[in-house]
Amino acid sequence: MDVAKLLNEVVSDKGDFMTKYVSLFSQLYHSLSYSIKRSETCYRGSMLIISVDVDVGSKELGIINKGKNDANVNKNTSEYKIGEIEEFALPMFMETFDSFKIPASFAIRGQLTVVNGSVLGLLRESSVKHDIAAHGYSHRKFTQLSREEAESELNMISQGMERFGITPRTFVFPANCIAYLDLLEKYGYSCYRGYGNFIADTMCIEKQGELYNIHPSFYVDKYTKPIFLRKILDISTAAKLPFHIWFHLWNFGEGKDIQRSIEDIFLPLLDYAKKKEENGLLTFETMLSAAKRVEKHEE
Ligand SMILES: [Zn+2]
Repeated sequence: MDVAKLLNEVVSDKGDFMTKYVSLFSQLYHSLSYSIKRSETCYRGSMLIISVDVDVGSKELGIINKGKNDANVNKNTSEYKIGEIEEFALPMFMETFDSFKIPASFAIRGQLTVVNGSVLGLLRESSVKHDIAAHGYSHRKFTQLSREEAESELNMISQGMERFGITPRTFVFPANCIAYLDLLEKYGYSCYRGYGNFIADTMCIEKQGELYNIHPSFYVDKYTKPIFLRKILDISTAAKLPFHIWFHLWNFGEGKDIQRSIEDIFLPLLDYAKKKEENGLLTFETMLSAAKRVEKHEE
């Protein structure tokens, strides 16, 4: 039985009420399971990796796509609305990471490159060198695309990003639906984020073909309690394993709620992790810099 699938179904049926309890259960489960499970075959090195999924990035994409792409982006919210939330949230998260001088992987939609003055500019001009990753062109599930369609998406991403002088080397599959890894190699990617859920989440980086799978370790949402994050981070540094947290920009509500989540969840975590960094207990990595570190280690 796929527990994550079951939980996802429960969440979509019961809405926010259940989301909260699933999130709390997830935190408890992860903090307990990471105390027990160890993967001996994976790279050892304690680091905190942050990846952020930018599903739309601009409300203008909602206008351009006229609602026809809504179903590919979110079950309950329009592409326009998600874009609007993310336009607001991205600068706030960037400011937070930049103030700590922490680089992160921001996985953006290829189609964002057709929008003028988008968040892409912000990412490029940031004082911290973030990893600008790809998150599909239209956020379609790669498992539902033909090989030709998948290749066409990758092609459009490359061409779009090239106009901004960016060659993405990190890929985050839309909806975490993994397919056509050989095409990622062909288009010059170095790493991707594998599938995660309650059971599959792990603290592990492993080589798959020519690519590095930077496994997800924990999904952060607005119900995440800093105490659990600290506990899991302690486990990762004690065991010298990579801890990879990820989230969507729309995970924290809107407006002031986003700021509250940053203050309640991220500031305590980053502050705590920064102290560990100062004591030489961990490094902050993007997905790409983590892959490079492992590659160097293997040479
Ligand atoms: Zn996504």
